[in-house]
Amino acid sequence: MQIQYKPKRNLLQTILHVELLQGMALTLRTLFSKPITRQYPEERPDVQLGFRGQHALVRDEETGASKCVACMRCVTVCPSRCIRIRFHEDEDTSARVVDSYDIEALRCVYCGFCEEVCPVNALILTEVFEYSGFQREDIFFDQEALLDNWDKFAESKGGKIGSYVNPFWRPRGMNADKLTAAKRIDVPDEWTIEGQVVGKNFKAKGTE
Ligand code: SF4
Ligand code: SF4
Repeated sequence: MQIQYKPKRNLLQTILHVELLQGMALTLRTLFSKPITRQYPEERPDVQLGFRGQHALVRDEETGASKCVACMRCVTVCPSRCIRIRFHEDEDTSARVVDSYDIEALRCVYCGFCEEVCPVNALILTEVFEYSGFQREDIFFDQEALLDNWDKFAESKGGKIGSYVNPFWRPRGMNADKLTAAKRIDVPDEWTIEGQVVGKNFKAKGTE
């Protein structure tokens, strides 16, 4: 089999430098065609359904607090291990109470697993794509910042929007037994407190 890297050219093509003329013709055509470059930020793109942007904790309209029930599913499923939650159990009701909720968004890969597994739609990836910072801390969202993100997102949508469910999320969530992330999880000590549930197979140091 013969591999030919250069197309055959006849004498006329060689003399006239046809490729050069073709290139110039293309340049000339493009010169008078309508530009397709988006002049961002003056021209803003439409955010498509299913877009996964800035994280937010949905604020319960009745209580004004986060809807998170500290089930720890998002922590367990996150492949980037960028979610940290601390909670305690209420002495009277035994219900979990969130003490702190942090997302180190710089490590996030925007897979959307966290919002998919959340049973109460407390955590969402909004349609907000414009956020940056001059310091690492600017992209580290604590609970207050995440609720603030929700408020701003809700405002951009015209005020109170209740819960936000993206139609591209999986309605039934994911089967935790199928998650390899839960088996891979290796939680740093500073992310754990006594009795904390941080991952399916996680065991605190010194325990069986
Ligand atoms: S989108 Fe994915 S990587 Fe980002 S916080 Fe959620 S689960 Fe973690
Ligand atoms: S999955 Fe939802 S309810 Fe559970 S800890 Fe995460 S944000 Fe909170």
